[in-house]
Amino acid sequence: MALTKIEYLGENARILDGVFQVTFDAGVTWMNKSVLDVELVRQVEHARREHLSSIFPLGEIINEINHNNGWNVTKPSDWEGDKYKIPAVLALIHSEASEALEAYRKGDKENFAEECADVFIRLLDMTHGLEIDLAKAIADKLVKNVGRGYRHGGKVV
Ligand SMILES: [Mg+2]
Repeated sequence: MALTKIEYLGENARILDGVFQVTFDAGVTWMNKSVLDVELVRQVEHARREHLSSIFPLGEIINEINHNNGWNVTKPSDWEGDKYKIPAVLALIHSEASEALEAYRKGDKENFAEECADVFIRLLDMTHGLEIDLAKAIADKLVKNVGRGYRHGGKVV
């Protein structure tokens, strides 16, 4: 009887009998991946445990600051409520990215960093308010990306 060797690399990846497997939305994809890719997945799992866990408390703080300032705070009910609420918040995230673009065009790296921070703050405010575990989503997506290869869907960029 053949021995089955399984090494778990987190929720979305494992090595079964020396073959690297990643679970995508549609199911399991089997790949013969390099040792380097497996090491990258291990690093993602380490980051999930050690670093990404700080995202949740940061979202809590952002929501509280925004609430105290009387600014918009996304709520779980916004997902099913006003159909223009989430699109408006996404448009504001876009606007921060546009401000970062303007800062880049002016060569203002300090302002560029601030606008990039605004993108992240607005994104985390929205996902936290909607009770989305962004840390989990980031780690899961990074594991998928490890298994995706050089180009995505044949696109150039
Ligand atoms: Mg801004």
